[in-house]
Order: sequence, then C-alpha cells, then structure tokens
Amino acid sequence: MQKGQQLLGTAALVLQGNFGDLEKQYRPVFPQCFNRAPKQPQFGSLDIDFYDVSARSTFFRVIKNLGIATLVSRSWPFFSANTELLLRLLTGKKVGNYLPEMARVTAQRKIHSTMFVIARRGHRRDANYELTQISSSLADAQKWGHSVELHGSYTSIIECGSLTPESAAVQAVTGRKPRGNRQHWLRFDKHEKLYGALAEAEMVFDSSLGFSETVGFRNGASFAFPPYDFGSERPHNFLEIPLVLMDVSLEAAAKSLGRAPGALAEEVLQESRRLGWGGVSILWHNPMEPLHVPKHINEVFWNCALQPGVDGEKWMSAEEFIRQSLFRYHDAGLLEGVRADA
Ligand SMILES: [Zn+2]
Repeated sequence: MQKGQQLLGTAALVLQGNFGDLEKQYRPVFPQCFNRAPKQPQFGSLDIDFYDVSARSTFFRVIKNLGIATLVSRSWPFFSANTELLLRLLTGKKVGNYLPEMARVTAQRKIHSTMFVIARRGHRRDANYELTQISSSLADAQKWGHSVELHGSYTSIIECGSLTPESAAVQAVTGRKPRGNRQHWLRFDKHEKLYGALAEAEMVFDSSLGFSETVGFRNGASFAFPPYDFGSERPHNFLEIPLVLMDVSLEAAAKSLGRAPGALAEEVLQESRRLGWGGVSILWHNPMEPLHVPKHINEVFWNCALQPGVDGEKWMSAEEFIRQSLFRYHDAGLLEGVRADA
C-alpha cells in the first residue's frame, strides 16, 4: 500500500472511532514519528468559564454551588467546600480570582497551561466576564509563559457561526491571534461543522473532542491527529488534541463507576503512555478553588500535572506541544504550511 493511502486509511479509522492500535499502523509507515524526542509531551489546559469580576456574581456562583451540592449532585464535599468559600466572601476575602496564583505556582514548577477564554456572551451558559475585565490577569499569565486561546462560545458553531469574530475579539485583548480552540460545553454539532469553522478561523489546533460525563479517548486516538476532511479528500491542516480528562467528567465518572478519581485518571494516562508518544489534553476549570468540583477532584490535577516526569512525561501548553511536536507531522507530510511559532 502507498504511504498516502495508508495515512488516509488511518485518518478515516480515527474518525470512525475504531479502537485498534493506531500506533501499529503509523509506526511502519512513519517510523520517524515515533523515534525522536520529546517523549510524552502532554497538554494541560484551563477553561475560564467563571472569573471573579464582581463580588455579586461570585456570591451568586457560590450560592448556586450550594444549591447544586444539595439538590443535584448531593455532594457533601462540594457543599462543605463552598460553605468555606461563602465564609471567605463574607469576611471580605477574594474568591474566584485564581489566575495570578495559578500562573505563578505552575510556572515555578515548570508547567505551562493553555487558557481558553470566552469572547462572546450570547447565551446564559457563556462566561460571567467580558474579556476586558480579565485582560490584566491574562497578560500576567502570559508573562509566566502560559498561553491564551479561544473558548468558542456556547452558540459559536451551531447557531451563530461566530468563531472567526470571536477569535478576533481575543486578539484585540491579547495582541495575538489565537491558534487554538475548545468549544465551551464541548458543544459543536457534527464534527464536519466544527472542522469547517476551525479551518475558516485558521486554527492550528482544537481540543473539543472529549466526553462531558466520563473520561477516556472519544476518538479512539491516544495522540494528537489531523482530522480527515472528506470534502477535499485530505487531512485537515490542524490538529485535534484529544481531551481525555476533565474535572467535571472525572467527578461524574468516578461516581457512576464507583471508582477513586485518582485511579481512573491514572488509568487513562497510562493508556496514553502505553499506546502513544504523548499529545493528549487534560482540562480543569479552576484547580485552585472548589468552585467547579470538590477539592479531592482538584487534587487529581496536581497529582497528574506535578508528578515529576513519569517516563519523560511533561505537561505543557498546547503552543509548546506544537513547537516540540510539529516535526513529526511535517515528516509525515501533514500540517503543511503550519509554523511552529506564529
Ligand atoms: Zn467552558
């Protein structure tokens, strides 16, 4: 079989969700993709869905969490943690203003994250902030080496087709055109529609394809891959970085499976180590405070990301990941014209 044909077959296999060992297919065709450093670069990310922009909105957020903990999730750890947050607020302390501390603590441990920010408030499920309200915190995070990308708003793909103007709105605040996207609520309609919007917005990567209620490999791929464009019969010119672990989905999975969240997370990462060379994504909303998930779920983030180099593993921003891994794709004739830095 010709190299090109086998590659297309592999790309289609990924899209169809076949859970075969893809590395076995890739390795003989593109051995150079598997034999060069770096080993196990993984991608850590934050979706900024809520930020402390006014005492009032933070107060309501904490009250809402207490309601969720009591009536929906029936989670005592989440209830008690948010009661603590309420007491902090009532004594005049800040809650939900986590970026400066998060940016510093992680960077000092040589870990960088990609922060996805929402640029448009078109739905009640979008963020509580305007980008200009958090721009100084974002600039501070960028100084620490973290990067800022687009968190496509709730209606950005299905109803409004607004990914390109949303990307421009982020650029207006950060001074840099976003190269990556993740859909807020992982909401994107059919893959084709998402991919078309990503191509139009000239994105280099996306990390929307994960599960919202469980953990694992939604595409059957344990590494970043260019999705296949059936319209033009060739791979797309951007990467999909599989989202394999998210804070809220880890909590849901641990509950439904009756498993310890740390063990579940470790199992997923172990599969990525076993089958691939890295290139998967983890997502936390706020690992500093229990505003999205209870403390014991946030602890999993710190255990995953801060474990000193399991078999050469390193957690980094998507931009660093692309800088370090682009050669693999270029060597395989993929991501033509994509530059490591832009
Ligand atoms: Zn979101």
